[in-house]
Amino acid sequence: MSANIIDGKAFALALRERIAVQVSDFVSAAGRKPGLAVVLVGEDPASAVYVRSKGKATVAAGMASFEHRLPADVSQDDLLALVDTLNADPAVDGILVQLPLPGHLDELAVTTRIDPDKDVDGFHPVNAGRLATGLEGFVPCTPLGCVMLLKDQLGDLTGLDAVVIGRSNIVGKPMAQLLLKESCTVTIAHSRTRDLSSVVKRADIVVAAVGRPEMVKGEWIKPGATVIDVGINRTATGLVGDVDFGGAASVAGAITPVPGGVGPMTIAVLLRNTLVSAARRDGVAIDEAAL
Ligand code: NAD
Repeated sequence: MSANIIDGKAFALALRERIAVQVSDFVSAAGRKPGLAVVLVGEDPASAVYVRSKGKATVAAGMASFEHRLPADVSQDDLLALVDTLNADPAVDGILVQLPLPGHLDELAVTTRIDPDKDVDGFHPVNAGRLATGLEGFVPCTPLGCVMLLKDQLGDLTGLDAVVIGRSNIVGKPMAQLLLKESCTVTIAHSRTRDLSSVVKRADIVVAAVGRPEMVKGEWIKPGATVIDVGINRTATGLVGDVDFGGAASVAGAITPVPGGVGPMTIAVLLRNTLVSAARRDGVAIDEAAL
């Protein structure tokens, strides 16, 4: 094995420490804590675990956590009414509605009801548009975390060939936009891409966000490339990514493991976005570049 293993867990921990320092400065300047409201509908065990860890991390960073649990059969109107209340609440800087929602609820209607300036998940179409046009807004946490790891690993990304596998609104598309912003030459591959292995083979940066266990093979990777594995797949043998880790690690220059790579970055960036939101809303200066 030759690749450098990118320690996302350690990076996320250090980021959370930097955030906590700036949260404490914000509290002194603004006289209040940044607040994150998380809405969980129903009892999905994986979602409940995510919501619990988000709440714990929020409090650990010195911020206020507001948790709202609604029954699985809540009506669309009642859920939208809660979003309206949170939009209007001055103590709330960030609103996150945990997805997926039960089938009778319209996820897009809920996501678009959130005030774009409190949309710390960056899923609102206004924030997708802001990202695409280079305006200030909120960027989805997972792809922003991936770019942070890439810049930490490679420094300047200008001119590098990047292939993003996956075109979802929450990972693939914003990932491609962020890499474009870093002046990479970006290719988006997806389920209809022809000859995926040849497309991947020319990439200096490979981001896999597919949701298929170990689909990306070591032979597809250009020697020395940096591989970011976003996939989280539960298999009989445990958690695996979208990349065949053993095969890829023997040719790549650097690679994120699963778990311990991209995963821990998502919550850390959520905390970052919440602090940034609070600072923007109260007009308090923070050092965004240090986050
Ligand atoms: P998604 O299902 O919405 O999108 C998957 C994408 O993969 C689609 O755009 C599709 O075109 C593409 N695809 C499917 N089959 C393919 C194939 N055979 N070849 C090439 N492309 C193919 O998934 P998502 O929400 O973008 O998530 C992707 C993965 O990332 C999942 O495993 C998910 O669990 C994980 N994820 C991890 C985090 C994290 O915090 N680390 C956050 C979000 C998602």
